[in-house]
Amino acid sequence: MRITDVEAIYVRLPEVRQQCDSGQDALIVKVHTDEGITGIGEVDSAPVAAQAAILGPYSHTLTCGLKHLVLGEDPFETEYLWHKMYNGNIYAGRSGVALHAMSGIDMALWDIKGKKLGLPVWKLLGGGFRKSIRCYASSLFGATPAETGERARRFAGMGFSAVKFGWAPMGQDAEMDVALVAQARQGLGSTPDLLVDAGMVWDAKTAIQRARAFSEHNIFWLEEPLAPDDYEGYRKLTEATTVRIAAGEEESGRHTFRRLIVEGRIDVVQVDLTRCGGFTEAMKIASIAGDHGLPVANHGFSTYINVAAALHWLAAVPNALIAEYVTQEGTHLRDLITRQRIQAVDGYLAVPQEPGLGVELNEDAIRDLRVV
Ligand code: MG
Repeated sequence: MRITDVEAIYVRLPEVRQQCDSGQDALIVKVHTDEGITGIGEVDSAPVAAQAAILGPYSHTLTCGLKHLVLGEDPFETEYLWHKMYNGNIYAGRSGVALHAMSGIDMALWDIKGKKLGLPVWKLLGGGFRKSIRCYASSLFGATPAETGERARRFAGMGFSAVKFGWAPMGQDAEMDVALVAQARQGLGSTPDLLVDAGMVWDAKTAIQRARAFSEHNIFWLEEPLAPDDYEGYRKLTEATTVRIAAGEEESGRHTFRRLIVEGRIDVVQVDLTRCGGFTEAMKIASIAGDHGLPVANHGFSTYINVAAALHWLAAVPNALIAEYVTQEGTHLRDLITRQRIQAVDGYLAVPQEPGLGVELNEDAIRDLRVV
């Protein structure tokens, strides 16, 4: 089997609003083969920059659009192709957009392998650790603490045993920060786990103060309180609190994950399959985390392609903790562009059992929402 073409399709809702929600647009990757099997993948990044990283022309031996590095190759050789893409485009980035773009292609290659063999990706990855996984309802904070409490009540009523709120208005001042968490806890009641995603708003000392204040409301983890490169701050924070500190969604490639783990000493390693380098790299990141006694969770605020990929990966590693499942209200691209809508049932997500990723595109919607 040979790769005959790679497409990178930028889709976007007609209206993109100024808010922290990466579910408004997407870059969809299709890898075609000479046997008529097409694999799909997703890149959650700056879509047009990642598109250029895939489709761009050959420049020289260390800078080349990723498409040209995989054309004519055997899609089953995922480890080899990962290194060929990494080394063949190394000037353009050993992390960031270059790795994001690689994620979409790597994901599509694993989808091809699964479709050809009639097996789900988790089985090809050597998995079988679980058939389903507990998930948390993932949402932005309400505009006010009271609105956050209302959302919490709704999500708890939907059967989730864990709920996360994130980003603004967290970070304005101590009073607002604590009120948001207090109201979220009040809305949830005492039993469900409450996860807090700060959204990179503090320095280490402020984060230590907030972790102490939030622990009165029994939080399950505190996510991304600091800037992603503040490894020393992460170390100070994790040494000063018993609250689990989660991070990783800004990372791509195992090398910066290693720094967060070894230097930052984080407690939960969050991996986005559409950014980290795909399945091939995500398996290595999970292994590094496991070697340090740490659990992993997925990050995913985009489409059901991302959700499906995360579930295959979480089923294939021994140290999966919990899955992110977006419950943010409003119009979302994810509900339009795939035929499947992966739904949580009683707070759990089932691992897909169909060949490949187990998710297919809604081609009519892709045509309608395609920008370039
Ligand atoms: Mg986050």
